[in-house]
Amino acid sequence: MKTSRFHLATLKETPVDAEIVSHQLMLRAGLIRRLASGIYTWMPLGLRTLRKVEKIVREEMDRAGALEVLMPSIQPAELWQETGRWDQFGPELLRLKDRHQRDFCIGPTHEEVIADIFRREIKSYKQLPITFYQIQTKFRDEIRPRFGIMRAREFIMKDAYSFHVGQESLQQTYDVMYQAYSKIFDRLGLAYRSVTADSGAIGGNSSHEFHVLADSGEDAIAFSNQSQYAANVEMAEAVPGDKTRAKPGAAMKTIDTPGKHTIEEVAKTPGIDIDKCLKTLIAEADDGGLVALVLCGHHELNPLKAEKLEGVASPFKLAERDNINAQLRIDIGSIGPVGLEIKIYVDRSAALVSDFVCGANADGQHYINANWGRDCDEPEVVDIRNVEEGDPSPDGKGRLKILRGIEVGHIFQLGDKYSESMQATVLDENGKEAVTKMGCYGIGITRIVAAAIEQNNDASGIYWPDSLAPFQLVICPINYHKSERVKKAAEDLYQDCLKRGIEVLLDDRPLRPGVMFSDMELIGVSHRIVLSERGLSAKQFEYKGRRDQSASNYELTELPSFLDGLFKRTCKSA
Ligand code: ATP
Ligand code: MG
Repeated sequence: MKTSRFHLATLKETPVDAEIVSHQLMLRAGLIRRLASGIYTWMPLGLRTLRKVEKIVREEMDRAGALEVLMPSIQPAELWQETGRWDQFGPELLRLKDRHQRDFCIGPTHEEVIADIFRREIKSYKQLPITFYQIQTKFRDEIRPRFGIMRAREFIMKDAYSFHVGQESLQQTYDVMYQAYSKIFDRLGLAYRSVTADSGAIGGNSSHEFHVLADSGEDAIAFSNQSQYAANVEMAEAVPGDKTRAKPGAAMKTIDTPGKHTIEEVAKTPGIDIDKCLKTLIAEADDGGLVALVLCGHHELNPLKAEKLEGVASPFKLAERDNINAQLRIDIGSIGPVGLEIKIYVDRSAALVSDFVCGANADGQHYINANWGRDCDEPEVVDIRNVEEGDPSPDGKGRLKILRGIEVGHIFQLGDKYSESMQATVLDENGKEAVTKMGCYGIGITRIVAAAIEQNNDASGIYWPDSLAPFQLVICPINYHKSERVKKAAEDLYQDCLKRGIEVLLDDRPLRPGVMFSDMELIGVSHRIVLSERGLSAKQFEYKGRRDQSASNYELTELPSFLDGLFKRTCKSA
């Protein structure tokens, strides 16, 4: 490709509304352009990289034995009503009506459609297991679309769905998919981790997420420093550092804490140890009442864990102040477990604190030296907090470290959640109708491009992993339009590269070298060769790899073997 014939649309200024580096660089390098909130066009340069992601994903899905299909984006409401998700999904589901006033939605995911295909097409256990996949556009009306295509409303996903008779078969395919995902992220050249995850609204039991590691990641993931344990912080089991609770000391006492409502404020009271402060959060119960959740002051509540407790409303919701005042006649900031007459759950760590400080259920007062089993009931102990850096690893090996990650893939065992309601059945060995078990496997194709940039950038712009660079090599001739000799040498090299199957860009724009170079570094071309009058006279060319500190000169006679060395691997695998 010649740059003069390509739409290279780089921007000098960093767009003001782009918060994270990948979004800034995608706009500056001209990979994407915004049409509306969370809706983007992929420009020619961006599309080249996107297609490379798709190619790797497609090859590994094919290798794993999955069959490619392409399902519609527009889906009829009836299918979603069968699974109950028409009502459950909420405003992320974009609904529309056709000219006959029939209800449709734009697919945020395709469990219903694939289960419908399955029940019409597949009749016998002999046809199983079977896995279908597609690379297709999804729409989710995200409450906060942000970071460009990282959290978009319209995005491209690879979604795959497998069908089985029996859990064993589902587990086998799940394992094959897990391996295929690992291969995909290895081939993409990204630093990633797989973690055990919550299966969220889609439901089911077993689930893993694949995260590209990056400081800007929306998810926190916990790893053991001594074992393979890795889980999304949402899911990681919190194990207290202490094993036992010390014996109670002095008698419980009331102290005045006027105007102090937060743990930090209370802890400033003379004589109070912050590690002894417990906080009591009030959540909505599923019967309209309230439930108390007691944690150590410095710990963070994990709503996903809390909403699984009996009696707690799901989705989890902290009670409004007015509701608490009306039902308990106490103000937020003075609530504590002593004498509180609602259901109380106590976090494992809080249950191990003796002589604790807590709200006295009277405005402006706290207790000190309160003790479980002495001043109030023995606690009902549960795990309701987020793990923290330094917590013991739940597998008993080592301590947890916390890193940030971008979720790029998610695999689930759905079991019979959709196959049951949609009657996706087959005749089993005994000629009896059997409900199939389903697995589903997603990859954020468009998000991967942003995640790759988040992980691979410097002050000059993007440096792609080899697998994703939109062009492998750029030829920058100096004075292409003035020097016949330079022009001819550049054209010859360009033709040679095309013959070799190298994805090459010839920068034939009449620009100063510095401008050419900074454009090529911004868009992340992996290798650069400069041809100039001076170089040709000395029978030399100049080379710089995108991440090299400086350029070096080589003999022109070595150029063919130099290209062999650079591109042998990439050309073979292309
Ligand atoms: P998230 O927690 O980020 O919203 P999710 O759990 O809703 O993701 P899945 O339903 O598992 O996502 O979808 C599969 C994959 O699709 C995700 O792992 C992610 O890479 C991608 N994805 C999901 N939502 C978006 C979005 N709004 N924009 C871009 N990619 C997305
Ligand atoms: Mg989501």
